Amino acid sequence: MSANPVVLITGASRGIGAATAIYFARHGYDICLNYKTNDVEAKKVAQQVQALGVKVLRLQADVSKEVDVIAMFESIDRVFGKLDVLVNNAGILKPQMTLLDTDAQRINEILTTNITSAFLCSREAIKRMPNGGSVVNVSSGAAKTGSPNEYIDYAASKGAMDTLTIGLAKEVAQQNIRVNGVRPGLIYTDMHRDGGDANRVDRLKQKLPLGRGGQSEEVAAAIYFLASEQASFTTGSFIDVAGGL
Ligand code: NAP
Repeated sequence: MSANPVVLITGASRGIGAATAIYFARHGYDICLNYKTNDVEAKKVAQQVQALGVKVLRLQADVSKEVDVIAMFESIDRVFGKLDVLVNNAGILKPQMTLLDTDAQRINEILTTNITSAFLCSREAIKRMPNGGSVVNVSSGAAKTGSPNEYIDYAASKGAMDTLTIGLAKEVAQQNIRVNGVRPGLIYTDMHRDGGDANRVDRLKQKLPLGRGGQSEEVAAAIYFLASEQASFTTGSFIDVAGGL
């Protein structure tokens, strides 16, 4: 069994997930680094983590698929034999459109990737936390705004993420497992390019009270705080990392 604490971060080949992996590694965690497709980027993040002197396990798995999730956790069992923290971070956007142009295939892909995944990973994680642990869910400011004319489906998946956080926090509190969420907003990552609007952060940043976009590291710091003993009396709570949105 690993002597270091162990964290699993889903969607950690780039963006907020990659920054979170590096942040936890700096604090002495061994890292389980999940990603879906991007082997090359995942290897680069893994090298940065290893350079910080901790162990890293790269785990290719589509977390929207139950069979992949179960296989991923079995790999963690074999290599580390425990899990202290889960960060449900994997998430996708689709091109901006109104509800009138949306179809079931798109909606289902958003929901299974952004929220079914968090249910499945949380279920497998809490089975492996007999002495307590921590789950941090990466939601979005969109859970509160609803993202009209852009992606109501994405926003709704994040609303569901917040409800999962509240309900699961109460369900597992007696097992000394804390469940919290962060709600980022307008962070410079490639997710906006995938949504067909690569310059979205710069286009909208003046609308934020702080007047600038955020960096992935600023989200990673909030995730780490909620997972850490610094937040030992905090569960079912949220930190907005969205420039005052
Ligand atoms: P990103 O740069 O697009 O990275 C997404 C990551 O998720 C990638 O590592 C990707 O892996 C992985 N991924 C996607 N589908 C997956 C699946 N089915 N299984 C496993 N991994 C999967 O995104 P980001 O901006 O860092 O966002 C991270 C989280 O923050 C998301 O939940 C997002 O909704 C949330 N968020 C972001 C912002 C923002 O402004 N950026 C704002 C609010 C909330 P591969 O590349 O290997 O496929």
